[in-house]
Amino acid sequence: MRDCRTDFPLFAEADAPVYLDNAATTQKPRAVLDALHTYYAAQNANIHRGAHRLSRIATELHEQARADAAAFIGAASADEVVFTSGCTAGINLVAMVLEFAGMVGQGDEIVVTTDAHHSNIVPWQMLCGRTGAQLRVVPLTAELTFDMAAYTALLGPRTRVVAVPHISNALGLVNPVQEIIAAAKRNRADCIVLVDGAQAAGHTPLDVAALGCDFYAFSGHKVYAPTGTGVLWGRRALLESLPPWQGGGEMIAEVTFAKTTYNKLPFKYEAGTPNIAGNIALAAALRYVRELGVADIAAHERALADRLYDGLSALDGVRVLGPRGGRGALVSVVVDGVHHYDLGTLLDQMGVAVRTGHHCCQPLMQSLGITGTVRYSVAAYNNDADVDAALAATQRALRMLR
Ligand code: PMP
Repeated sequence: MRDCRTDFPLFAEADAPVYLDNAATTQKPRAVLDALHTYYAAQNANIHRGAHRLSRIATELHEQARADAAAFIGAASADEVVFTSGCTAGINLVAMVLEFAGMVGQGDEIVVTTDAHHSNIVPWQMLCGRTGAQLRVVPLTAELTFDMAAYTALLGPRTRVVAVPHISNALGLVNPVQEIIAAAKRNRADCIVLVDGAQAAGHTPLDVAALGCDFYAFSGHKVYAPTGTGVLWGRRALLESLPPWQGGGEMIAEVTFAKTTYNKLPFKYEAGTPNIAGNIALAAALRYVRELGVADIAAHERALADRLYDGLSALDGVRVLGPRGGRGALVSVVVDGVHHYDLGTLLDQMGVAVRTGHHCCQPLMQSLGITGTVRYSVAAYNNDADVDAALAATQRALRMLR
C-alpha cells in the first residue's frame, strides 16, 4: 500500500498527535475535505424534484454517491443502500421497522453478543421492552472469541433476530459472521440477521451479498468520511415489505389527508433533506479507500496490530485482551494496578492519542470484571513509527505510574 499520510492535512499540523484512536473516528483525507468544499462552494442545492440546473447536479452527485456506496459493499443495487446519520441510526431504523411490521412480538428472542457495542444492544433491548420479546446473549469463550457452540445452542424456534458485530470495537476480534449468519438461517430461514460493520468498513473487503445477512450497517466517520453519515444496506425484498420509520418529505409517493402512499426504495426510508454534502463526501471517502485498496489496507493494519500486540504483550503487567490472530485494526489492554484513564492521560501528555474506558461496551466490561481498557486502534495512515512511539510512551508511562 502506498504511504498515504500526506493525504491527511491534520498530520501536517505541528501539534498532531500519534493518532491511534481510529476506532472512535478517523482523520479525513483531502479528497473528502475537497468534496465537502466543492459541494458547498459550487454545487449546493436541495436534491430531487428541483427544476433547476444546480439541483440536477446535486441530485446526480448524491445518487452517484449511493451507487458508489453500493459498489463498495457489494450490494446488488443502489436501491438497497439507505443513507443514515451513522451506524447507530441504521440499527435503530431496523429495530423500529421490525416492530412496526409486527415481526417481533411477545416471547420472540433477539440474540446479541457479549462484545456488542451499546448501539447494537440498547435498540434491541428497547424493542424487547416494547414488544415483550427477550434478549438472549451469546457469551465469549475463555479465550475471548465468539462461542459458536453456545451460540448455536441459543438458537431456537423463537429466534427472530440475530444482531452481531463484524469486528468488536473493544476487543478487535473479527467475528465469524458468515458462519453466524448461516447458522441463524439454518435454524430459521426467516430470522433477521443484522451485522454491525462499524469497525469493518474500510478495514476489510466487504461483500454483503455473499455474507448472506439481511442488514449491514456502518458509519461514515470511521471510514474517513464526515460525521453524520452512514449506510444501512438491506436486502431488497425486506426493504420493500417493511414499513417506513419516519414520515416527511421525500419518503412519499402521494399524500392526501386521508392517506399517504410511500416512495420507492430507498427513499421510503429517507424522510427529509438528507446529509447531501456528507453523503457525497462519504462516496469520496469510499472511492479513496478503493484507490488505496481495501485488501492492502487490511494487510497493512494487520501488521500494525500485530506489532502493537507483540510490543504491548512484552511489557510487564500488561495483558492484551483476546488472541493475537483473527483480529482487526486494534488492540485493547488492561494493566495490573494501573487505571486505564491514568495511562491514557499520560499517553496524551506524551503526544499519543488512544481511547480509554468501556468503549460503549459496558456489558463486555462487566463480563470481564473490569471497568475499562486502553485501546490502540490504527488506520491506513499509521505506520511502524507510530506504533513504536506508542509502545515507547506506554513503557515510560507505566514506569511513572508504578
Ligand atoms: N458499533 C460499533 C462496533 C462501533 O464501534 C460503533 C462506534 N464506536 C458504533 C456501533 C456506533 O457508531 P456511531 O456512533 O458512529 O453510530
